[in-house]
Amino acid sequence: MASKSIAQPTPQQVDERHMADIVRFTARTMETATPVPFGCSIIETATGKRLMRAINAVRKENDPSSHAEVRTVRLACKKLKTPSLKGYTMYTTCEPCPMCMANALWAGLDRVVYGATIEDANRHCKQIHISAEEVNRRSDMPLVVTGPVLREEAYKLFTHPNMLAVFATWNPKKSELESAKG
Ligand SMILES: [Zn+2]
Repeated sequence: MASKSIAQPTPQQVDERHMADIVRFTARTMETATPVPFGCSIIETATGKRLMRAINAVRKENDPSSHAEVRTVRLACKKLKTPSLKGYTMYTTCEPCPMCMANALWAGLDRVVYGATIEDANRHCKQIHISAEEVNRRSDMPLVVTGPVLREEAYKLFTHPNMLAVFATWNPKKSELESAKG
C-alpha cells in the first residue's frame, strides 16, 4: 500500500467542518437585532469550495418562502446562471422543511446535510412534520440526505438567550406551553 503521508479528512470530518462553518456564520446573527437560527451554505462537492451562504430572511423580506435553504439555492443558481446545482452539497443548520427539501430536489443537489432536526426546531417554533428523508424518498430525483451532523452545536443556535427572547415574540403560545410543561 502507498504510504499515507498526509492524512485525508474522512467524509464525516468534511461534513463536520462545513457544518461548523455555517453554524458559526449563523451564530453571528445572535448579537444583532434580528437573530435567526437558520443558516445554509452550498459547497462544491468535489472541491469543498463555498459557492453561497445565507440566513433565513422571512421577516426581513416579508416573504414566507425566504427560508435559509430556499434563499441560498436561489442566490447560488443566479450566481451560476443555471437552475441546476448538480455537483453541489447543501449544509443547513436545521433539517429542511418540506418546502426547502422540495426546492433542493428540484435544484438537483448531490446531498443535503443538516444539523438540528425538525423536532429540535419544533421545541421553539412551528414546523411541518414531514422529515427531509420522507420528501426525498417520495421524489423521482432523490439525493443523499445526511444528518444530524453536529446536532448539539447547531441546536445551540436555538437555545441562545437572544434567540429564546425572539422565539417568544414569534410564537407566544408555544413558548407558554413549553414553560408550562417545565
Ligand atoms: Zn424551509
